[in-house]
Amino acid sequence: MERSVDVAIIGGGQAGLATSWHLNQANVDHVVLESGRVGETWRSRRWDSFCLVTPNEFIHLPGAKYDGPDPDGFLPLAELVAYIQSWADSFGAPVEGNSTVTKLEAGGGGFRLTLASSTIKARTVVVATGAYQQPYRPAGAESLPKDVVQLLAEEFTNPAALPPGAVLVVGSGQTGCQLAEEIHESGRKVFLACGRCIWVPRRMDGRDVFGWMVESGFLDRTPDQLPSPAARLLGNPQTTGHGKGHDLNYRVLHDLGVELLGRYAGADGSKLHFADDLAASVDFGDARLVDLLKFIEAGCAPKGITPPTVDMPPPLRVKTRTELDVAKDGIGSVIWTSGYRPDYGWVKFPVFDSMGFPQQVDGCTTVPGLYFMGVHWMRKGKSSILYGVGEDAGIVARHIVESRT
Ligand SMILES: Cc1cc2nc3c(=O)[nH]c(=O)nc-3n(C[C@H](O)[C@H](O)[C@H](O)COP(=O)(O)OP(=O)(O)OC[C@H]3O[C@@H](n4cnc5c(N)ncnc54)[C@H](O)[C@@H]3O)c2cc1C
Repeated sequence: MERSVDVAIIGGGQAGLATSWHLNQANVDHVVLESGRVGETWRSRRWDSFCLVTPNEFIHLPGAKYDGPDPDGFLPLAELVAYIQSWADSFGAPVEGNSTVTKLEAGGGGFRLTLASSTIKARTVVVATGAYQQPYRPAGAESLPKDVVQLLAEEFTNPAALPPGAVLVVGSGQTGCQLAEEIHESGRKVFLACGRCIWVPRRMDGRDVFGWMVESGFLDRTPDQLPSPAARLLGNPQTTGHGKGHDLNYRVLHDLGVELLGRYAGADGSKLHFADDLAASVDFGDARLVDLLKFIEAGCAPKGITPPTVDMPPPLRVKTRTELDVAKDGIGSVIWTSGYRPDYGWVKFPVFDSMGFPQQVDGCTTVPGLYFMGVHWMRKGKSSILYGVGEDAGIVARHIVESRT
């Protein structure tokens, strides 16, 4: 079965839907092809107690800017899913669910999209299949003993669903720290293998850190302002929206009783090895916070706003173990929260850089009619989040409209 459409948006998350909203405004005929349901990633790749880390007031989806009763709060997962679903319903987003595109290639003078039992010809395609695509496991993951249950962060649902025993969380970005805290609170022994990540105080001078980031233009930084292209892979800041939001970083977790370790370095039989590098990781996070504070200060000055004052804590120095024994330490499960990599192997166009990110400007590629949306750092630091995706979608939609005139 083959049919033709004008514009095909692949992916019905916030990036695809935001593009759909703008195309709808411009009366451009289109479909949204979605593997599962609207907002499927939020529905099936987050844990039960998930809540947003960004305050509700910074949900700036086009046509659905948050104006609810709790702007300073952090929507829990069920409410977020309902929010996205009702937004999609509000403008009749033309979403076709259960429609996974397995191949995108040139064909018929435009694009040919292969689905399970049909093909679609399209004049224009927007690939919006997610900022966090392929979960990454560090080197040495394959040497983990087979009798230890392994999960990806997106497979974790709740502590009770884990096998008995202690839990090793590998990766200490925002997600790793949140899982470590929540599993610890359930009464489990938790080990956290730590890497390098910025931490931020949840509030500074009474204002949420995210508000300061917005105010200072931190989230408007463009990819060329990053120290290197690899910096696109750095984790989001360590903090949490749980319990109305609080600080969550190495110091907090250490005080709670989570056992901090250096980076996971592989296994040898039942022995798990860790680098002796926690101090360096802690110092890295502290240094990046100092960078952020300087950025905020510089961004506030022209507006005459007094920047926040933060008393930097003394360096955290903890003696860590470099070896655990699965049996002796009672480790029943390992959760990998070690980041993501792009995964566009099904897109048969040479438009990707050496790290697998699409090469684009404002979402436009060198292939006429092929666009991307929702890519991490696509235009700015805010490109892949609820606060910034709408701005990018407006620009991509404008390019599509202009290409027709
Ligand atoms: C753990 C975690 C916490 C986060 N917390 C926040 C937060 O607090 N605030 C914030 O603003 N952002 C947050 N984000 C970032 C961001 O908002 C989310 O990653 C968001 O889901 C990105 O939206 P998206 O539409 O780009 O991608 P997705 O939501 O992943 O949507 C992509 C869609 O494409 C579909 N799809 C994929 N491949 C295909 C295919 N081949 N064919 C058809 N359909 C396909 C998927 O089913 C999915 O529905 C978080 C991210 C993570 C990972």
